[in-house]
Amino acid sequence: SRAHSFQADEDPGRVRVAVRLRPKNDEDVLSDDDFSDCVELQPELNRLKLRKNNWSSESYRFDEVFTETASQKRVYEVVAKPVVESVLNGYNGTIMAYGQTGTGKTYTLGKLGKDDAAGRGIMLRALEDIIGNISTSSDTIEVSYFQLYKESIQDLLAPEKTNIHINEDPKTGEVSLPGATVVKIQDLDNFLQLLQVGEGNRHAANTKMNTESSRSHAILMVHIRRAVNEKVNFGINSPEKGSRSDLFDGKDIPIVRKGKLLIVDLAGSERIDKSGSEGLLLEEAKFINLSLSSLGKCINALAENSPHIPTRDSKLTRLLRDSFGGTARTSLIITIGPSARHHAETASTIMFGQRAM
Ligand code: ADP
Ligand code: MG
Repeated sequence: SRAHSFQADEDPGRVRVAVRLRPKNDEDVLSDDDFSDCVELQPELNRLKLRKNNWSSESYRFDEVFTETASQKRVYEVVAKPVVESVLNGYNGTIMAYGQTGTGKTYTLGKLGKDDAAGRGIMLRALEDIIGNISTSSDTIEVSYFQLYKESIQDLLAPEKTNIHINEDPKTGEVSLPGATVVKIQDLDNFLQLLQVGEGNRHAANTKMNTESSRSHAILMVHIRRAVNEKVNFGINSPEKGSRSDLFDGKDIPIVRKGKLLIVDLAGSERIDKSGSEGLLLEEAKFINLSLSSLGKCINALAENSPHIPTRDSKLTRLLRDSFGGTARTSLIITIGPSARHHAETASTIMFGQRAM
């Protein structure tokens, strides 16, 4: 079978990008004239063609192209599993979804599928995989769940906790949220309940603030600690026979692997600066856009192998600082709809994804 560039080991710091097309919904069917769709997918070529007008289209390449029939399982295996495996091996990793509201970000990442395991999204599948790889009783899986709205972090497991501070260890560069609730996960039901609580709180908090959840980023943070046995091999630096270190050479010794996984359901990418009719102040619009635009700059910098990744500009990129680039693995799923009505938003989503390529 074809080797996926999602699994390729070269250039591990580059953000891998997949595009996923949502199936037509009733509204698309009703309101589209026979202009047909605004995109054409060529999954076997990892290519997407965006219609420019009746006569021409522009082609774009991605690491993977998912048609509207792609299953949740397949999306997980191609896009998310390599990141999860890397996290189990002690690295950090990020899986993000970017796209216009209504194109399937939450479906792809957060779908619960309570009575329909096949419908489950990446969050549940990732935790299922992680739980399946945790062996000894000393291993731990710890989860926090929060939202980022207008550069302020709110705990989705304890919504009274707002304005949570981001801590960055000056020595290790490790990013953490000391004020956020941390829950130890024992099994998948446990985690499913936690996601439900989070969803409920997200909804309630946004109703109270009179905001839309489409304007906040929802972030799941998973810390894994695993004890594994690793063969020690001093290689050419083989210690002197009979020395203290020689006792360990070639033997299994227990080591602890720590990894962090971030799953980020980004705010809707639709431009909101034109939405004066919704009563949004320009100041608010700028804030909401800040994280997404600064994310774009970082993705760009990573693609260009720039020595400087500008992560300081927003809370989102500060949170991601130790989880993308370097040894961390990052997957980005951009979600689009099929309708020609949203051509401009679809085009801008595609351009965002191209910034990583
Ligand atoms: P977003 O989070 O980007 O705003 P949602 O994930 O809420 O979008 O998706 C909008 C609607 O489309 C939901 O009803 C969802 O169930 C449906 N949907 C999205 N993607 C798919 C898909 N790949 N297959 C089937 N339904 C989908
Ligand atoms: Mg959503």
